[in-house]
Amino acid sequence: MITITEVLREKGLKVTPQRIAIYAMLSGTKSHPSAEEIYKALMPTNPTISLATVYKTLDSFKTTGLVQELSVGNGRSNYDANVLPHPHIVCTNCGKIFDFEIQGLSSLRNQVADQTDFIVEGEQLTFYGICPACRHN
Ligand SMILES: [Zn+2]
Ligand SMILES: [Zn+2]
Repeated sequence: MITITEVLREKGLKVTPQRIAIYAMLSGTKSHPSAEEIYKALMPTNPTISLATVYKTLDSFKTTGLVQELSVGNGRSNYDANVLPHPHIVCTNCGKIFDFEIQGLSSLRNQVADQTDFIVEGEQLTFYGICPACRHN
């Protein structure tokens, strides 16, 4: 088992209790929280944490490839510790963001490269709809 301390060190990041707490929270959830949501979740157990620290930490995590930042059109950034390319589906009613698997993502990327002559570096594939919980309400 590789520890969070080791993960941070490997990325050349200074290990602080707050960085450990933020990465632990993000790697333990599939909810794609925003900076504010991370801050609110950690405040009870990390009373000295500030929103500015959360933002700064997320920034360094993003730069070192520890997390990916999502823009799904809700006016803020959401964060995902799963940095492998994967699509998302967003509930237009409750705002929850879900992961799912899709076949042919790399073939899609090749098609884009072929048609545009771009070197494709990444993509954000986002679908929108009503989630099962909202649909059954
Ligand atoms: Zn919903
Ligand atoms: Zn995700």
